[in-house]
Amino acid sequence: MVKCLGRNNMSEPKQICPDCKGNGFIRVPYEQAREEVHAQCDTCISQGEVYLPIDGLINLKNQVDQLKLQKKFLQSVCKRAGQRIKELEQAVDDLENKNNYIER
Ligand SMILES: [Zn+2]
Repeated sequence: MVKCLGRNNMSEPKQICPDCKGNGFIRVPYEQAREEVHAQCDTCISQGEVYLPIDGLINLKNQVDQLKLQKKFLQSVCKRAGQRIKELEQAVDDLENKNNYIER
């Protein structure tokens, strides 16, 4: 999943996941869980390796969030613009009809 975010997949070096040390899961400390518990590693989605430095990954996630907000905003702007265009087209049609009426 992370792979497709790389500029060039082939040249992007894999890195051992810094959170789970390549295990793909994290051991929950015994003091917290009171038993032997393994949790899936969210950082690498249990792959044990990441394709980008983890800072870059977090930055990309933030960028995605930002772009989603922008997308929402732009979609609403486009929607309003579309409505305005419809209104104006209607106004143009009305004026043309009036012109035709006057010219006759
Ligand atoms: Zn991991």
